[in-house]
Order: sequence, then C-alpha cells, then structure tokens
Amino acid sequence: AEEALRHSQKMEAIGQLTGGIAHDFNNMLTAIIGSMEVLKRRIRDGRYDDMHSFMDSAIGAANRAASLTHRLLAFARRQPLDPKAVDVNKLIYGMEDLLERTLGEKIKLEVRLAPDLGPALTDAHQLENAILNLAINARDAMPQGGTLTIATENAIIKSREQYGQETIDAGDYTVVCVGDTGVGMSPDTLSKVFEPFFTTKPLGQGTGLGLSMIYGFAKQSRGHIRVESAENVGTTFQLYLPRYQGAVETRPLAPARDAATGA
Ligand code: ADP
Repeated sequence: AEEALRHSQKMEAIGQLTGGIAHDFNNMLTAIIGSMEVLKRRIRDGRYDDMHSFMDSAIGAANRAASLTHRLLAFARRQPLDPKAVDVNKLIYGMEDLLERTLGEKIKLEVRLAPDLGPALTDAHQLENAILNLAINARDAMPQGGTLTIATENAIIKSREQYGQETIDAGDYTVVCVGDTGVGMSPDTLSKVFEPFFTTKPLGQGTGLGLSMIYGFAKQSRGHIRVESAENVGTTFQLYLPRYQGAVETRPLAPARDAATGA
C-alpha cells in the first residue's frame, strides 16, 4: 500500500511537471502565432512599416521554445559519465575567457586555485558544463553586478557524513566552490533548488533543470554538491568530486617514438 501511495504521488508530480512545461511551451507558440497573424494582416493591407518588431518577437519566442526542448532533451538523455583523471585547475583556467564573456562587465571574476590540488576522477566535459551553469545562475543572481569567486581546494572526509538527507562517503575529494555576492535564496527556495523543473525565473527564462542536472552529475561521479545561501548576501555552491587514486601518469624516460615512422 505504501508503495502504491508513493507511486501515485510520483505520478502526480510528473503530471504537474509535464503540465508546467506544456504550459510554457504553449505560451511561446501563442506568441509566435500571434505575431504571424499580425504580419499576415499587415501584408494583406499593404502596411509594411514596423514589421521587424513582430518578426523579432516571433523569432524570440521560437528561440525560447527551441532552447526549452533542447534542455529537456539533454535532461532526458543524460550522457553516461566518462570518468578520467581531471586536472580541475587547468580546466578552470581554460574556461576563464568564456566565463569573463558570460559574466559581462559588471561582474568581477575572482579565481583562487589551490596550488597543490589533487586530480579528480570525473567527466571533464560535464564538469565544464556544471561550472558554466553555476556561473550563469550566479550572473542571474547579480543583476546589479558583484563578484563571482571560483575556488578549488582539497578536502578529506574522515568518516561517512550526513548532510541533510544525504550521506557522503569518507575519502579524499577535490572541491570546486562557486560563490556569488547576489540576491541569495529564501529558505524555501534553498530547500528546492535541486528539484527538477524548480525555478523562480520568469516564464520562458528558466527551466529549473540546471541544478538538478548538476546534482545528477555529482551523484553519478560518486561526489556530492552542497549549497549555502543568505538572502541579499550571496550563495556558494561546493561541488565535491572524488580524488583520482590511480598512478599519476609520468613522461616516458626514453625519447618518444616518432609517430610517423615508428622509429
Ligand atoms: P533555472 O536557472 O532554469 O531556474 P536551476 O535549476 O539552475 O534552474 O536553478 C533553480 C533555481 O535556484 C533558480 O530559479 C533560482 O531561484 C535558484 N538559484 C540557483 N542558483 C542561484 C544563485 N546563485 N543565487 C540565487 N538563486 C539561485
């Protein structure tokens, strides 16, 4: 009976989610259809002034719909993890230009990388996506500007820890912290941020999938994500990734063979 109750609650939740997405999508289609109707009438009446604004609003709505389906698809077919030893500092260093451009002029990027950071065992491509997503959320939380801090550190969890409803296994971790000086979150928002489709952003601007994907990525990596936030102070996410324990690759002592000749 309890199983059945859980199942029916789950179905209800899925129903609500699907309804929400269908509603968003429908609003976008309505905007496109509306603009097209206006354009059709204007062409019929030979009024060609100010056609651009209707075209722009149709294109804008179509783009938002495309991005919604794109993100839904990415969510549905979450890529399998391809875990390898990742030099997280190097990865972040390589993202600095992209981050600067994403954050814009009003937001200062501060990067503090631990010089002795151990390699993480994770999927580099998905980690990059996660960091970019956290940075975009941080940017959205700082409309008046502010500072985004990205820091790395080594952490040791000595024994199995309880964090909220989660447990974290003992072990060595490589941690990425992404902190902002933005609007922060209410306790209610804070308790829901990792739920799929939870968003406080206006219609068409948020899908509520970013953090739930990052949460899934952290779990799949056998890591962990935690968040601290204070309203009007800011928010910090900490992504714990398990330390790569294998032998660190060393350069061969003998000169490398010439790839072309095999000599
Ligand atoms: P989306 O960005 O599409 O809303 P996310 O899953 O990435 O979806 O985030 C869910 C919600 O969590 C956001 O709508 C916002 O309310 C809150 N949130 C996420 N990151 C931050 C942040 N850095 N500061 C304040 N609120 C945040």
